[in-house]
Amino acid sequence: MRDRGRILVRGIVQGVGFRPFVYARARALGIRGSVKNTGSQVEIDAWGGRFDEFLDDVSRGPPLSRIDSVEVLPLAGEAPAGFGILTSSAGTLSGMIPPDVATCGECVGDLFDEKSRYRGYFATSCVNCGPRYSIIGSLPYDRERTSMASFPMCPECGREYTLPECRRHHAQTIACPVCGPRLTLMDADGRAMEIEDPVGEAAELLDAGSILAIRGIGGFHLACTEERGGELKARLGRTEQPFAIMVREEALEQMACVEAADWKLLKSEVHPIAVLAKRDPSAHAAISNLHTIGCMLPYAPLHHLLFSRLKAPLLIMTSANMPGYPMITEIDTAVGKLRGQVDYYLTHDRRILNRCDDSVMRDGFIIRLSRGIAPKRTRIELGPRCILGVGPELNSNVTIYKDGFAITSPHVGHVRNPPTLAYLQETAERIRGWLGARYDVIAHDLHPSFLSTGYARELAGETGAELVPVQHHRAHVAATTLEPCIGITIDGVGYGDDGRVWGGEVFAGRVPHLDRVGHLEEVPMPGGDLATRFPERMLYGILPTEGTLGLLRERGWTDLQCGVLARQVERGVNVAWTSSTGRVLDAVAALLGICRERTYDGEPAMRLESAAYAGTPAEWPLEFVQKAGSEVLSTRALVRKAMEAYLGSRGAGEGAGRQAACDIAASVQANLARGLAHIAVHAADDTGLKRVALSGGVAYNAAIRGTIREEIEKAGLTLVMNREYPLGDGCISYGQCVWAGAVKRGD
Ligand SMILES: [Zn+2]
Ligand SMILES: [Zn+2]
Repeated sequence: MRDRGRILVRGIVQGVGFRPFVYARARALGIRGSVKNTGSQVEIDAWGGRFDEFLDDVSRGPPLSRIDSVEVLPLAGEAPAGFGILTSSAGTLSGMIPPDVATCGECVGDLFDEKSRYRGYFATSCVNCGPRYSIIGSLPYDRERTSMASFPMCPECGREYTLPECRRHHAQTIACPVCGPRLTLMDADGRAMEIEDPVGEAAELLDAGSILAIRGIGGFHLACTEERGGELKARLGRTEQPFAIMVREEALEQMACVEAADWKLLKSEVHPIAVLAKRDPSAHAAISNLHTIGCMLPYAPLHHLLFSRLKAPLLIMTSANMPGYPMITEIDTAVGKLRGQVDYYLTHDRRILNRCDDSVMRDGFIIRLSRGIAPKRTRIELGPRCILGVGPELNSNVTIYKDGFAITSPHVGHVRNPPTLAYLQETAERIRGWLGARYDVIAHDLHPSFLSTGYARELAGETGAELVPVQHHRAHVAATTLEPCIGITIDGVGYGDDGRVWGGEVFAGRVPHLDRVGHLEEVPMPGGDLATRFPERMLYGILPTEGTLGLLRERGWTDLQCGVLARQVERGVNVAWTSSTGRVLDAVAALLGICRERTYDGEPAMRLESAAYAGTPAEWPLEFVQKAGSEVLSTRALVRKAMEAYLGSRGAGEGAGRQAACDIAASVQANLARGLAHIAVHAADDTGLKRVALSGGVAYNAAIRGTIREEIEKAGLTLVMNREYPLGDGCISYGQCVWAGAVKRGD
């Protein structure tokens, strides 16, 4: 039995209330000594007869901590009189700070407790909850290195801070109405309004139909009631894109189908936006014209207070940003950029040091990896080199690998303009600083002209790091599994080995040796990116017939436009070739008249999915051809079949026509999925591999995912999907690191 030791605990041990937790255990077990943070680890010197019990408790840690290792070293010298919390010292950095965590139940209780001095206070938090990532400047995590540094504690907060039995003991974010951040309500010109009760006033304004910009934890939201959804769309010029909502718990069940797993997620420390099926697919059209709706519960004290004063059951809450640009965090920027869109601003004076959007999840899969999840830390062995993955172009983030851990940043966005690139660079630089990382390898997308590729090259030039280009879809597989597998990747676009636009690919092998063994038929995209925006062009690219032109003419295409399109395809002028799954779905959405112009990423395919939700799929014959050692599914045959069915359904009356369109949508999805699964099964037969990895943004489509799973399992194979990283491009920076690590290790 030991009676003393120096305990070193490594992992996510800062900002999670580790020291107060240790203190409380020490007091309870009569342990004497001290505890301190040293950057990446907590160091505890402990003396006492119940040392082993104490060690057990410490090894479990408080709820938000993630412990990698616990080491006990010998300890000499005399025990001090009691147990103390020492100030931090910067040591080697390998741990990571936790993400921002939703307000805990006890803090919500304080908000509405007559006797609590936190009653009604919008910025209360404790060691178990509140902002972390968004307020931290540098490590170790102590108040003076956070945006709380500008709010010196009042005597009462100072007392609780040092009081061991208090939930806010050593909570760096402790603050109260006397000493902490304050709320201000501002008019449309950014002038502060002289009012007593900003939250109550804001609630009244929202109920009366105003549109507010509300500064939350990681940035600004635009908020209004459901009735004003149309007006908000008009002001933003975003007429089709669905909004997310924040909704009272009681009201959610009436709007959406919420499974037990969804409730668990919605109420977890993440409190993400959960994309749920609506109870009535056509209801709440001002919020979402899809069959789904993105819902979250109030997650910050401000939200709880607002909903306690609000009459409306829900608020539209959408990130405030210029389209394609990062979310706005500063009030001055908000007032400058949101002019004409916003009637009032509800803001506060706590700086947001690190921007963080809401996380989005669907069916347990991550769509946007951000607040509550990121910075995400994954233990994985990728060798001795430090690696940066800069991500692709869309839905990007960055990942840094060092010493057995990959750290992925929160969502950055579409890196196709200088401000978003700058945000990507800042994010990488901040995490690099926290980790004390020096890059040996920088992994980037194969696309030569992505801004992120340019950044990788520039950085490699400065640091001497080695560049490793990674093909987009292979990065998808690498993010999913390092085991030998067949990999299906289905998405919109990724630069292929041959410079063509890939996006419906089947690989076989093991990272970093994945052979492309199958894909969707390569079809022309007339006008390149124009075919993405106007999917009827894509339809003609796949089916270049007089029949298709006839349909386009009916819909208002002029003879001149039709002539240009036909010549483009015939001569291959300004035509890109693609095996993208997304583009096939787009073309069918156009054929069925469901979506003729894309106004946001993924729109035609998402609307097709909503139509298919009301349809019944039929099994169609599939056509495969062999091309250069790959098995190719003919998407022309699928779209031709869809065209026949569509033309055959016309004249059957409006209701029957609509149902036919839904059935065709469902059939296209099902047969496309079946075709891809068959290629995978054939490849598994050829190679003897038993596992099939599935990734790519199209895999969020529940029907397509379901059909692929069914076919794969029917063949006695196992389907592997990633629930830790997004299926879409938010997994790419991580996949790039994994790939580059495998390449450099010489796997
Ligand atoms: Zn709390
Ligand atoms: Zn105070």
